[in-house]
Amino acid sequence: MTEDVVIAGAGPNGLMLACELRLAGVRPIVLERLPGRTEVNRANGLVGQVVRALDRRGLYERLSGSAEPPRPSAAFVFGAMPLDLSRLDDNPMYGLPVPQRRIEQALEERARELGVEIRRGHELTGLSQDADGVTAEIAGPEGGYRLRTRYLVGADGGHSVTRKLCGIGFPGVTRDDSVSRGAHVTVPAELIDPVTGGLNVPGYGPIPPFMHHRTDHGLFVYAPFPTGTLVNTTEWHQDGGDQPMSLDELRQSIRRVLGADLPFGPPEGEGPHQLRRLTGGNTRLAERFRDNRVLLLGDAAHVHSAIGGPGLNLGLQDAINLGWKLAAEIHGWAPPDLLDSYETERRPAAERVVMHTQAQSALIAPGPEVTALRALFGELLRDERTVKHIADMMSGADIRYDLDGTHPLIGRPAPDLVLETETGSVRLAELTRTARPLLLDLTPGAALAGALHGRHDRVDLVTAKPSREGLLTALLLRPDCYVAWASDSPNPDVKELDTLRAALASAFGPAR
Ligand SMILES: Cc1cc2nc3c(=O)[nH]c(=O)nc-3n(C[C@H](O)[C@H](O)[C@H](O)COP(=O)(O)OP(=O)(O)OC[C@H]3O[C@@H](n4cnc5c(N)ncnc54)[C@H](O)[C@@H]3O)c2cc1C
Repeated sequence: MTEDVVIAGAGPNGLMLACELRLAGVRPIVLERLPGRTEVNRANGLVGQVVRALDRRGLYERLSGSAEPPRPSAAFVFGAMPLDLSRLDDNPMYGLPVPQRRIEQALEERARELGVEIRRGHELTGLSQDADGVTAEIAGPEGGYRLRTRYLVGADGGHSVTRKLCGIGFPGVTRDDSVSRGAHVTVPAELIDPVTGGLNVPGYGPIPPFMHHRTDHGLFVYAPFPTGTLVNTTEWHQDGGDQPMSLDELRQSIRRVLGADLPFGPPEGEGPHQLRRLTGGNTRLAERFRDNRVLLLGDAAHVHSAIGGPGLNLGLQDAINLGWKLAAEIHGWAPPDLLDSYETERRPAAERVVMHTQAQSALIAPGPEVTALRALFGELLRDERTVKHIADMMSGADIRYDLDGTHPLIGRPAPDLVLETETGSVRLAELTRTARPLLLDLTPGAALAGALHGRHDRVDLVTAKPSREGLLTALLLRPDCYVAWASDSPNPDVKELDTLRAALASAFGPAR
């Protein structure tokens, strides 16, 4: 028997892809070498457009515990420099402070609800492929076995076995000149400023929360997350040693970075608590994201510094980009270049993350030249346009896929619309939870329905009125909620209907 898709890795990106495939009517099998969910937590939150993307699948509500739509953050940080986002008209910087463990749990629950088979304790150890499919070799709890599949996706992390088995290079740089130490701690209440939420370090002074704080000797972060207070340092040209990490080691590091002692105790409450030392880091991008019937996803395709928390903004949106394209291949209606557009669309997104994390790493490093560069950068950040540029870059809102058409929304994520439908008022983000392509017809006479002839199996039609006056009269949305076509015309003419038909064919294949 041949499976449709096997995914190696039940990290956040593999699980997200499994959910997307299932929504698109494909049954993937997820292989995970670990027998249970890991206790190790990496990300402390999601940053950027991924938060809106999760809202469009109903996952934001689960993770935030709120029925309210996501709102952008008023402030963020770039290379330890504060970004005041409160004055931006169109602030793209959404945030969701949820630990990665919780994200993985929510995605696994969702995947299981949708009927995804997750095999824990099953490790991909080998693969070979031919014109029709891939044969995966797996080491499971009962011994080795093989699975035949039409496609295999390596979502198996930065050390990806899939990538290595395909001989795909992973060029980039490895730095080993910095040491980061972080732990959950308890800070005495009297050190916390009741107004700003900042930390008053005796002998040093106030440090704002969540803002990376650079000194001549390193970086200090105080992050009072709802799930626990994290304190973190980064130092350069200092040996991390090979002793197990301890709170005392963190204490000494803080003393070196701030030149003052921070009195803190062990964390309270239920763990698992973080106590971590990381030396150096990698910035690498896979030479190719695809090798015939094998594709790479998430950290398997790209790794970079965690500064600014861009990893899951990138990886989860990779998964949302890939899911519907792979499903279209399996259902047999994919246009010829659709699957390759996964790489042409997502590689530039990864390249931008590589660029801005490296730029931020340079801005936090020690040295008088860096201090001078920061002074200059600080001046540039007084200009709102620079802040907007950086916010768009960090959030991924500046990504525009190269799709045909002149409307400014084409190739961009759908705007947040509220619509009046026959059944009442609804947010566009609620209409996209099925992950089906959507033609949104806001023309007064519902003039576009005919254009879907021969594609009703693939594309849903929604007729509605916008709840607020605006120019937009129609949107063709891909399942990843990027705009494939749009119109401002109340009565689209023949020429415009032709452009709609061309966009339908280019994204969703020929009519049948
Ligand atoms: C210290 C740190 C802090 C971070 N902070 C943030 C943050 O705040 N925000 C953010 O967005 N990102 C953050 N990141 C990045 C984020 O954690 C990663 O981008 C994310 O985990 C990548 O997910 P993934 O699913 O691609 O890979 P992984 O999470 O690495 O998952 C890969 C899975 O594949 C499994 N696997 C491996 N090999 C095989 C095999 N051969 N067969 C079967 N299964 C296999 C592994 O066991 C694992 O479960 C941080 C990373 C680090 C290291």
